[in-house]
Amino acid sequence: MKTMVQTLTEDTLKEMVAVRRDLHQHPETAFEEVRTSGIVAERLRALGLEVRTGVGRTGVLATVKGARPGKTVLLRADMDALPIQEENDTPYRSQVAGKMHACGHDCHTSILLGVAKQLVSERNDLAGAVRLCFQPAEECGGGAEGMIADGAIDPRPDAAFGLHVWQDLDLGLVGVTPGPFMASVDEFSVTVKGTGAHAAMPHLGVDPVVCLAHIVTALQTIASRHASPFHEVVVSVTQIKAGTAFNIIPETAWMNGTVRVFEPELWKALPGHFERIVRGVAAAHGCTVEIDFHRFNQPTVNDHAMAALAREAAVEVVGEKNLRDDIRTMGGEDFSAFLRQVPGCFIAIGSRNASKGLVYGHHHPRFDVDEACLAIGAEVLLRTTQRFLGIAR
Ligand SMILES: [Zn+2]
Ligand SMILES: [Zn+2]
Repeated sequence: MKTMVQTLTEDTLKEMVAVRRDLHQHPETAFEEVRTSGIVAERLRALGLEVRTGVGRTGVLATVKGARPGKTVLLRADMDALPIQEENDTPYRSQVAGKMHACGHDCHTSILLGVAKQLVSERNDLAGAVRLCFQPAEECGGGAEGMIADGAIDPRPDAAFGLHVWQDLDLGLVGVTPGPFMASVDEFSVTVKGTGAHAAMPHLGVDPVVCLAHIVTALQTIASRHASPFHEVVVSVTQIKAGTAFNIIPETAWMNGTVRVFEPELWKALPGHFERIVRGVAAAHGCTVEIDFHRFNQPTVNDHAMAALAREAAVEVVGEKNLRDDIRTMGGEDFSAFLRQVPGCFIAIGSRNASKGLVYGHHHPRFDVDEACLAIGAEVLLRTTQRFLGIAR
């Protein structure tokens, strides 16, 4: 599939596919992106760029400086893979047991390298600077914050853009959603402590399992009673562990899960709602609790002006009819950490292709994208950057 307008050379496009396949074969999980960041640094140096490595542990920063002064835009790609065993049988499948690029971050890294190459070749026409940010550890949280703490947004850029290949969108479609785009991500763990007893004599103990079951049910009132009916909320308890035998009431029961929202006021109030419900239900059952409430990502909120800019760029590449502006997901993204401090936009690049069987979602062991999305992603990112900086032609 050809994009409507093509800036990138055939050589760059081929290189992007080759880099993506190489990274796909050698996936590295959070904060272990040593080979990956090494390849990134080497390719950026080969373009004549000054490169800073080890940023936020395994991140890489480099800047393409235009011939004339102007604004600075940050472009971010994440580099980490997931602890999943790949089940695809492609020539470029993962060669590392138990690890796989199942979210498409290999694509993001290769796209940003392609964009970097093109920007270097356009340097003389460029006003301002483009800061290239290759980020580790998006999946487990901490990657974006680590790079920011280590200077990724110092001095502060005027805008920040990033993209994600998107399996909910067919190849050729692009999603640019103004405002809230992806949800916050909180993880909770709760240990309920009771008193063990024989299963036949529950009155002699305090059953943490019954208590936990009530907590699981009561937590759903965060969505149904504490949030406005107009605000999205998801509360999912995903792990429960307790007990050792059918005839023993255990001492403790444990659960783990996630809460996700879009609305900032509700996000702030979540830990309070959570703790009150858990402690209240536990007290009613005569149990005590230990709560661990970990805040991973805040909602990913696209700036309206920056989204409008990205939209114009995307329309140039795929046409108005292939643009979607209403894509939202309860999935989260740590690009939100950049967007909290710098106006910007996170763009979804359609990568699904049912005619080739490329239909599996992110984090699935058979996840794979139609690689034609690399060209579209790079064009959209490049044109968004050019528009923001005002490239002379
Ligand atoms: Zn992911
Ligand atoms: Zn991802």
